Amino acid sequence: MRSLHWLWRMWFWRQSPLIILVRLSYGLLYLKPLQGLYFLVAFLLYNSYIPYMQRIYLDNAATTPLDTEVKKAMEPYFDDIYGNPNSLHWFGQQARAAVDWARETIADAIGARFREVIFTGSATEANNLALRGAINKARPTFTALYGDKPMKVIVSAIEHDSVLDTARALEEEGVELVILPVDVNGFVDVQALADALDERTVIVSIMYANNEIGSVQPITEIAAQIAQFRSRENALPYYPLLHVDAVQAFQFLDCTVDMLGVDMMTLSGHKIYGPKGVGVLYARTMDSVTHMQDDRMHIISPRMTGGGQEFGMRSGTENVPAIVGFAKAVELAVARRTECADQIARLHSLFWEQLHGACPEVVLNSPHAGDAPYLPNIINIHIPGQKGGELLIALDLQGVAVSSGSACAARSATQSHVLRALGFSDERSRRSLRFSFGRHTTARDIDGCIAALVRILAA
Ligand code: PLP
Repeated sequence: MRSLHWLWRMWFWRQSPLIILVRLSYGLLYLKPLQGLYFLVAFLLYNSYIPYMQRIYLDNAATTPLDTEVKKAMEPYFDDIYGNPNSLHWFGQQARAAVDWARETIADAIGARFREVIFTGSATEANNLALRGAINKARPTFTALYGDKPMKVIVSAIEHDSVLDTARALEEEGVELVILPVDVNGFVDVQALADALDERTVIVSIMYANNEIGSVQPITEIAAQIAQFRSRENALPYYPLLHVDAVQAFQFLDCTVDMLGVDMMTLSGHKIYGPKGVGVLYARTMDSVTHMQDDRMHIISPRMTGGGQEFGMRSGTENVPAIVGFAKAVELAVARRTECADQIARLHSLFWEQLHGACPEVVLNSPHAGDAPYLPNIINIHIPGQKGGELLIALDLQGVAVSSGSACAARSATQSHVLRALGFSDERSRRSLRFSFGRHTTARDIDGCIAALVRILAA
């Protein structure tokens, strides 16, 4: 009885009132007697409720809705084409062809080679593979050269937790960790990075664009500093490696790996209108770095061992529908990049104008001033005297979905490590809101959101 009670509470009441009404109506429908009438009542209830329940989604940096074209591309791989891509028979080869197509598509989109695209179960996993994989691969070389001296990892203070926490875990295992500070706009000081580089540095991991404030790092400049270090006498030809988390950037910025000068790059499916639970690590193979080594050799060691999938870099049967969906999303993102960036930049300006007009005391946490490079879809604000968490709940009750920072940290009431790194107070870091726009956001959504905010602030 207890478990039934739990189920009932979980399943039924924790849904929106609209869904409850529709379900109740359908429940009555099963009783049959006045089928038509019940249907009519359900229909009328649904339609009269809609205007009050129209929800506005402004949390696209947390995740994006699945694109219908992506969904269509994925569908055959849930049922019709179900073979294991590692099987030699016809069924397996159908699935293998799809995975190969996906790998080729993503490799083309970032200017990589086929073998350099490694599918993972998320961007979090890809970031782990990049850092831990690079350290493990480098260990024999660095031990031979520097004995007991620790290898070094350099990251910025505003990295996603999947990089920061992995770097901290490596520190506990004896690696030296340098966390680079950022300025008040969220930009890494390239000179500070250059000063931190030394012969024991195995990997530098700097995100392309930040997920909470949208600041875009000067990756080509950072890559040039690293290349300059590598070209010094007696330097190792391909260390330090440069890894870039481009999860938030890919939708808006050119992520061609040679243009950026990166050795590793992380992407995620669900931030670009693709499926959740799939990521990519681009990892350069040796010969494109040294022009001497076996070109089949990766610059990382696997973290997951087993069947040897993904060129031995990530064992486990491939998630074929998700991989196909990811590649389709990549294809669409590249085709729509400029149009999407322009459209969303207009919404960004509209939002800020309206918000500032309605609430002059609001302050921006995300870079917006002058020509500082930032993503068009993210705007992070603080309203003095207002608690971010409470505003978030109040907005949700009004049908507007936003976030108080990274989706991963949203369930804990901790302050944002990104806002702290910008030098903001504990209070400001705890009491800020992130609005993030997407391909489906409209000017009407912006109006609705501002109107809801004004109502809440006036209450
Ligand atoms: N890196 C950045 C910059 C992110 O914004 C996120 C997700 O919020 C991740 C990594 C993790 O992505 P995933 O959900 O695919 O693990």
